Amino acid sequence: MKYSVQKISKDVMKLYNQKLLLRILKDEGPISRSDLSKMTDLTLPAISEITKELESLNLIHNIGESRINRGRFPTMYQLKVDAFKVIGVTIRSNSIRVGLMNMTGEILYDKEQAQLNTQPEIIADAVSSLVDTILQEANTKKSEIRGIGLGMHGIVDAVNGISVYPPHLNWDNVPIRTLLEARIQLPVLVDNDCNTLALAEYWFGGGRNLNSFITLNVDYGIGAGIVVDGNLFHGRDFGAGQIGHVAISDNGPLCTCGKYGCLEALSSENAIIETIQKKVKQGYPSSIKEIEGNPEKITIHHILHAAAAGDELTLNTLNHAAHYLGIGISMLVNLFNPDKVIITGAVIGFKEYVLGTLKETFNRNALKTNVTHFELAASQLGDKADVLGAGSLWINELFKGNSSLTDLLHENKPVSL
Ligand SMILES: [Zn+2]
Repeated sequence: MKYSVQKISKDVMKLYNQKLLLRILKDEGPISRSDLSKMTDLTLPAISEITKELESLNLIHNIGESRINRGRFPTMYQLKVDAFKVIGVTIRSNSIRVGLMNMTGEILYDKEQAQLNTQPEIIADAVSSLVDTILQEANTKKSEIRGIGLGMHGIVDAVNGISVYPPHLNWDNVPIRTLLEARIQLPVLVDNDCNTLALAEYWFGGGRNLNSFITLNVDYGIGAGIVVDGNLFHGRDFGAGQIGHVAISDNGPLCTCGKYGCLEALSSENAIIETIQKKVKQGYPSSIKEIEGNPEKITIHHILHAAAAGDELTLNTLNHAAHYLGIGISMLVNLFNPDKVIITGAVIGFKEYVLGTLKETFNRNALKTNVTHFELAASQLGDKADVLGAGSLWINELFKGNSSLTDLLHENKPVSL
């Protein structure tokens, strides 16, 4: 048995302080060295050394003297936001999406395309050509891009870049990082999409400055991204957060995982669509038939319209889904006692129809001791949260991870997670 000893070397301290200053500049905007010193308790000479290093790495720049204060005019520093651009990619069950973003999470350009052939090589080719298109349209050189971040559903081995088991694509241990790197010639970081959504919330959304929170992604599937003490919790085999496959109802419907009664089979977007399609075919009265006559063609957009028009079948189905979602969230809160659960995904579009019932079953099932300081919220990041999250795999490395800034700023260097 070997025991590892944590050594804090001078280099580790230096890296930590560089990233700390970058984070402060990201959150606070232009700032002087003396204010940085006051906020961190680092000495002024130490701050000067770090700002010099960050300037030489081209990550920050001196924007001259502040004219705000009377008397002395301190020199202000600011992030060079476009010095670190990355591309976020999401591979969904029937589409791929690519977004170009800078270090402050600004999506400069994004594009989505339908992708019906789900063979790994075909999808990798499609991602590669979409990346080329977006770079061309955004008039950006590949050399300006520091890396590609990829978020995808199912079990993802984030260390080795392998899509282990994505149930909606039917892949088996696909080395997606290698496939993409061979085509795009840029380093790729991969993680589960619920984890990347959690990173988007951590850096740019409702998870900022929170130690422990969970994003619950209710989309075509259901999964959770769990942040514990500021870090993603992956689990031994990258299987943490699979709340979608907790059996929540005896004799429930069949799930994509092969079990019955999973939360995903009851409350996901696909479950809602399938339930409504089935009931319309069985002859249940519903005004959705006036919106789309062919039950097979009913989509989430038709369901949204039917809900707005007060269709009873649609509202009852949403209510049923919300009932189980509330129970699912109470399980997360009883297990992890997080500061917050942030709901993301397509369900946000239905929040006015589902939040009431969801909160009711949540309150009935959550432990009172675990909800004293707890907040339940809907994501505010909008429909680009998925690409923002995928790109955030790199943002997390820039502002926090163990990779040195020099390595991060030089393309094609491997990044150790
Ligand atoms: Zn399941």
